[in-house]
Amino acid sequence: MFNLQEKLRKNIRDLEPYSSARDEFQGIASVYLDANENPFNNGINRYPDPLQEELKTKIKSIKKVHPEQIFLGNGSDEAIDLLIRAFCEPGEDNIVSIKPTYGMYKVCADINHVEYREAPLKSGFNIDIPALLSLIDNKTKLLFLCSPNNPTGNCLAQTDIIRILDLFNGILIIDEAYIDFAPGKSLVPLINSYPNLVVLQTFSKAWGMAGIRLGMAFGTRNIIEVLNRIKYPYNINVLTQQKAAEQLMQEEEKNKQVDTIIKERENLVLNLNKLDFVEEMYRSDANFVLVKVKDAKATYNYLLEKGIIVRDRSRVALCENSLRITVGTEEENKALINELTNYKPV
Ligand SMILES: *Cc1c(COP(=O)(O)O)cnc(C)c1O
Repeated sequence: MFNLQEKLRKNIRDLEPYSSARDEFQGIASVYLDANENPFNNGINRYPDPLQEELKTKIKSIKKVHPEQIFLGNGSDEAIDLLIRAFCEPGEDNIVSIKPTYGMYKVCADINHVEYREAPLKSGFNIDIPALLSLIDNKTKLLFLCSPNNPTGNCLAQTDIIRILDLFNGILIIDEAYIDFAPGKSLVPLINSYPNLVVLQTFSKAWGMAGIRLGMAFGTRNIIEVLNRIKYPYNINVLTQQKAAEQLMQEEEKNKQVDTIIKERENLVLNLNKLDFVEEMYRSDANFVLVKVKDAKATYNYLLEKGIIVRDRSRVALCENSLRITVGTEEENKALINELTNYKPV
């Protein structure tokens, strides 16, 4: 049996959260003299809704969850950090993940002085389940999986994820930042059957709103309540809430852009495959491709000279001589392929 209270850090279990003016009065009034705001209306003189109710009403219909199952953070990074701070006793508990994967899990663990353990992926960038399970002990509070995975681009097998979910008694976090580009389905509906599952998504990728800094976490009401108790009271500003609500009305446009990006991705894979210095192309379920070349540093520098910036992931485990290339517009991808076709490695 999973017991959330038992998993929390003691100071968090006992925490008396800050109570803001907007927490203490939530109705509609004609005169607000409770928050020391400037009374002259300029559209942003009032504090934002601490629980972002209006925005969550819009998200709820798209994601088919209850508003109480949604946490909104200043990017997904806020949810990652809060999960660590809520559950992991510094210098005592540990976190398990895969390698290579998104770098922020380890950085947040390091900042919080929490041990971070990583199981290398096996061939095909799949989870090595025995290796992963062997890292788990009774101090393992969180397990991070990223699917589609960054920087490898592939979805992890859902059967593997569910097997781990069935075996693990801490909080399993699935980062679905790139799920809109993947053929498979999101695991968000599983939050109704697994009390220890958290799914992360973001407005930064498919939704085209990296600039407003807005990330989502989905989980049981109990887990989401913990995150809401420890976040900064007004963590999502007024402008971000307004812009996100506005853009959520453009779901069709988002879907069209995703379709275009997927088509462009497949094109990019075909064209990269024709280059003789490309050694391996990995299957991508995301909006980027990982490509292994003869000499990643030289290729990176050549592209840089041509004004095209990609990400050299060579220093990352299992990604020797690999470049991570984001799928751009048709023109941008053409420019990339054009320059690479003219590239004569020495
Ligand atoms: C880009 C990305 C995110 C998004 O982070 P935000 O803070 O929401 O912009 C989350 N997880 C992974 C794996 C990513 O690559």
